[in-house]
Formats: sequence, C-alpha cells, structure tokens
Amino acid sequence: MTTPGTMQQDWQQLADLTEETRRIALDFLQGLDARPVGAKHRALAPAPLPEDGVGAAGALQAFRADVLPHLSASAGPRFWGYVIGGTNPAALLGDWLVSAADQNASINGDSIASSLTARTLDLLGDLFRLPMGEGGFAGSFTAGAMGANHLAALTFRAWAGERLGIDVDADGMAGLGDVAIFAASPHITMLKALGLAGFGRKSIIPVGTLPGREAMDPAALDQALGASQARAKVVIASLGIVTTGDSEDIAAIAAIAKRYDAWLHVDGAFGLFARTSSRFNALSKGVELADSITSDGHKWLNVPYDCGFYFTRRLDLLERAAIMTAPYLATDDPAPVFCNRTLESSQRFRALPAWMTLQAYGRKGIAEMVERCCDLAARFAKGIEASPGLSLIAPQGLNIVAFRADFDRDQDDAPRQRDFLNAVNETGEVFLTPGRFAGRAGIRAAFSNWMTQEQDVDRVLAHLQRVRATFGGKTT
Ligand SMILES: *Cc1c(COP(=O)(O)O)cnc(C)c1O
Repeated sequence: MTTPGTMQQDWQQLADLTEETRRIALDFLQGLDARPVGAKHRALAPAPLPEDGVGAAGALQAFRADVLPHLSASAGPRFWGYVIGGTNPAALLGDWLVSAADQNASINGDSIASSLTARTLDLLGDLFRLPMGEGGFAGSFTAGAMGANHLAALTFRAWAGERLGIDVDADGMAGLGDVAIFAASPHITMLKALGLAGFGRKSIIPVGTLPGREAMDPAALDQALGASQARAKVVIASLGIVTTGDSEDIAAIAAIAKRYDAWLHVDGAFGLFARTSSRFNALSKGVELADSITSDGHKWLNVPYDCGFYFTRRLDLLERAAIMTAPYLATDDPAPVFCNRTLESSQRFRALPAWMTLQAYGRKGIAEMVERCCDLAARFAKGIEASPGLSLIAPQGLNIVAFRADFDRDQDDAPRQRDFLNAVNETGEVFLTPGRFAGRAGIRAAFSNWMTQEQDVDRVLAHLQRVRATFGGKTT
C-alpha cells in the first residue's frame, strides 16, 4: 500500500520531478531582471502539519503557488542592499550536486569531501595571496563571516589563555583576567562573536578613526595599545567596512600590533576580495601578516548561501577550541577532520560550489568580476554627484556607495531619508538599505553581483532622480 506521499513513489519519478524543478529554477533565474527586487509579502499564518503528504509533485505545486511569487530577486542585478552576492552559474551547479551527493564534509575515510575542502581552502588562499600550509595559514569553511568571526574569537581566546598559562577551552575563562580588544569600526557580527566567546559584546576598546573616514587611525591604535596594561591584547581590523566600503591600513596596523605583541584579526568579509585584483594591491597590503582572517563566499565569490571562510596561522589553537575526539570518529585518513576546525559537527560540503567556481572562472574571472563591481560603483557615485538633490555622504569605497537625499535642512533627518528609501524600494526597481555615517542618515548601494551591468546603474539613477523629484525641497 502506498499513499501519494511516499518517498519510494517519488523516487520512481525522480527524472520528471528534477526536470520540473530545473524548469522552475531556470524560469526564476531568467526572470530575475523582471521580478520586483524586494518581494512584497506578509508574515505567514501558522498552518497545521499535514498528516498525509501530497508527494514531491504536490509539494512543488504548493511551492509554485505559495512561495515562488514572494521570493526576492536578491540573486539578481539590482539588489544593492547589505552586501549580497548572487549565485554564479558554476556555483549553482555545484550546489545542486552538494545536495544530490549529500556528503558529510566533516568526517573523512569514506569520501573525497574533506580532502577537496582542504584543497579548495588552499586555492582560496592562493586567490587571496595568503601563504598556506606549513608556517602559513590553514582554515575552514563556515556558514558565513559571522561564523568565521566566531572562530576567530575562539582562536584568540585560546591564544590569550596560552599567554597567561590557562587552558581556557578545558577549564573556562576564570583566571583569564582582562584581555584588551581594540577596534575602530567592527562589524556587528564581531560584537556578537565576542559575546558568544565570553568576552562580552561591550569588551571592545574603541580606537579613533581617521578624519572623515570609518577606518582606524593607526596612530590612535599605537597610543591605545601603549596605554594598555593588559597581558593579552587583540586588534580587530577591517578590510571593507560596511557603511562606506572603507578599508583600514592593515600593513600599518600589523606593524603596530606586532610591536605590542598583539593578536591581529582582519575581518575581510567582502574586502578581502580586493586581494584578487592588482588594481587594489595598495588597499589590501599587509593582510598576510594577520593571525586570523574572515571572509565570505556567499558575498563576492557569488556562491549560494551559505559559505564563509576562516583562515588562521594558529591552527593548533583553533583545534584546541574546536576539537572533538571520540572512538567512533577515529580514522586513518590523512585529510583534515573539519569538525575539529569548525563550530559544526556534521556539515554540508560547502567547498564544492566554491571549487566549481574557481575551476570555471579562475583567478582572472574572479578579479574581473570584482573590478567590474567597483567600476559600477564608481559609475553610480558619479551619477549621484550629478543628480539634483542627491549627494554622497562618503567617497566611494571599493564596491560601496553611501549617499543621501538632500532636503532643505542639512541636519540629521533620518525619518525623511527613510521615507525616501521606502519610496525608492517600493517599485521593485532596486533594493537599497539604510546607512549612517558621520552623524548623517543615508542610503547604501553595494555592488557584488556578477550580473549587474552599466545599464542597471543608469536605470537606477534615473529611478532615484524620478523619486527624488516627487519629494520636493532643495534640489541643487
Ligand atoms: C557581511 C559582513 C559580515 C557578516 O557576514 P555574514 O555572511 O552575514 O555572516 C561580517 N563582517 C563584515 C565586514 C561584513 O561585511
């Protein structure tokens, strides 16, 4: 006896079902340009769990009717909110194969998955010009930059313990004393990571920024480190700061951190991609001197969610924090055991979409995408400056443009900026998100999708000018 919902029946029809799914996915992707960028949807009402399933075909039908119309075009060319990448073609194929093959990449001895994960991290190290292996960096895939920042906090917590003769991971944080953590413009996920690691979200000692910038002032760091009596000091630097795309002088910061014997963590969630282009060499100098580095695959590598990268020179400390040993995990396989380097125990084969991307497009393909995004940001910034009633609130940084609608008052007018932003997003032409810099509310546009073209930039500029004209007030 079988009911419509049995897995065995679906299995018999898998060819047809996957074909239909492929068609839905293709229609979605090819329709991204026409789809409203931000979807209008309401929070769903609770629905009962079905007693009898409807089978995969029925579930697909329900997806088509109830879910598909309300999906965002965040994978498309005009989603410029936050920093969101799309999915490149090779990564999409890789991701489908991840689900089909369903490998547990954390363990080894039965699959190439952990070995390919290790090799993919090496390739990424090469892409980012980081020395890998003996004396250099080792790493792991994470669910995102948040996860990588969390691993960083656990690694430098173990490092602080080592300096003070305490095994924090075995014995806890009592006795660790004060660890001084310095940062200028840390990402919110770094604060969360510090909370999760037991340092506390408020543990950061703020360091001054350069005039008119989000980036840390190295002289202020020098002073702050010099004034600190803490026995373990940590510096958190940012390559690619979220509101303005600004980057810190990592080479200068690394030299200062070294002088004070401090741990240096670099959050390069999107900014690390500057390292892929010779045009941005000057901007990203010194990252190789860090003790730990965060980056994201689901942002600028344009692999699907979720994918982050973590690199550290002290794999031993990361493993001290993350190690899991049990008789049932024993194997003779020489490939790394990734559950000893990550938060997760079992884990998705996240490396495969990244590996497919690197095989498909190579160093040049990635650099070209990164440079194109920055060129589009420059085109957009120029267009904003030339638009009546709109102005930049900071110089363009890498792939990010922060701007605002100028109204009569030059004071902080956050609610009015918010209304303007809502009106801009309302039509589904583009999706932008708010930002605040130097006490002024504004809007950010981040370019990190391989699909975006100059015509998208021009289309959005025209749209912004139209909406701006309806708001009145000062327009020169
Ligand atoms: C986006 C971002 C993060 C968090 O990344 P997730 O992928 O959302 O975990 C951390 N740091 C910086 C600088 C970012 O831009």
